[in-house]
Amino acid sequence: MDRSARVFVAGHTGLVGGAIERRLREDGYANLILRRRAEMDLTRQAEVDAFFAAERPEAVILAAARVGGIQANDRFSGDFIRDNLLIQTHVIDAAYRNGVKKLIFMGSNCIYPKHAPQPIKEESLLTGPLEPTNRAYALAKIAGVEMAQAYAKQFGLDAVCLMPTNLYGPRDNFHLENAHVLPALMHRAHLAKQAGADHLTVWGSGTPIREFLHVDDLADAAVFALEKIQGGPDALYNVGTGEEMSIRALAEAICETVGFSGELRFDSSKPDGTPRKFSDASRLNALGWKATIPFEEGLKATYRWFLENQNALRAA
Ligand code: GDP
Repeated sequence: MDRSARVFVAGHTGLVGGAIERRLREDGYANLILRRRAEMDLTRQAEVDAFFAAERPEAVILAAARVGGIQANDRFSGDFIRDNLLIQTHVIDAAYRNGVKKLIFMGSNCIYPKHAPQPIKEESLLTGPLEPTNRAYALAKIAGVEMAQAYAKQFGLDAVCLMPTNLYGPRDNFHLENAHVLPALMHRAHLAKQAGADHLTVWGSGTPIREFLHVDDLADAAVFALEKIQGGPDALYNVGTGEEMSIRALAEAICETVGFSGELRFDSSKPDGTPRKFSDASRLNALGWKATIPFEEGLKATYRWFLENQNALRAA
């Protein structure tokens, strides 16, 4: 991919799209095309079609999505399935119709069955029932993968699908209720420390296993895919670190980073979700990509960002 190529990063105001935008700029991509939601609503097909016809991007990185933690997925499942289906349908179709040379579609490893063999391989897709708490989101993303692959098969669209594990990093959503576990717990541990509280509440049992990928590692994988991976009907890749951790261990690491020394209390009225979500990224690793940001370092950098920006956190 030529660095003068016109690359549309959809979702650049979000955690993932923002990291990709920064990374592309650092790498010298000089013709990025960006639109805020107020300028173009991706859930409206006419707006997307007009944008593609006028701007003619050569590559598209589709990082725009409605996302959230376990509770937001459950509470707002209608919003999650509608917005994600609309956004990806409009963007993938417009990309094909306007001759885009490369499309990167971002999903999530929650597309895999709840009880998929671990670590989870790409082959596990559609082999069993999904985790109910995020089924609406997962089904939308599965439809996106299928659409990208069907367009690759029927129309020759050069599409690569990346399925990252749980993400974290600066500019995340730190909402106490709706965010993912890492930013939500970091925010709560910070408030508990400030209030001199004696405990921190952690949802569920603390036993679920997750894997945490720094968003800059995902941005690195996205640029790797843009430049080096040939898309096609089978171009589906997990993106992970190869390191897994229990929610209890995560909470302990967060407390240490934040400097909160009270006890952990587990709230069993909240759902655990999938018992273990650990990706097998060997398909992508075999092409020469690997995550490089150590968890401790990423966690500290995320907390520093939180401290510097806590007065301007996202509202929802
Ligand atoms: P998931 O990976 O799709 O299940 O999404 P989350 O990041 O929201 O949750 C991961 C795990 O962390 C689940 O087992 C949650 O019950 C647990 N968890 C513990 N405390 C929290 C919290 O404060 N917020 C969230 N979102 N999850 C929490």
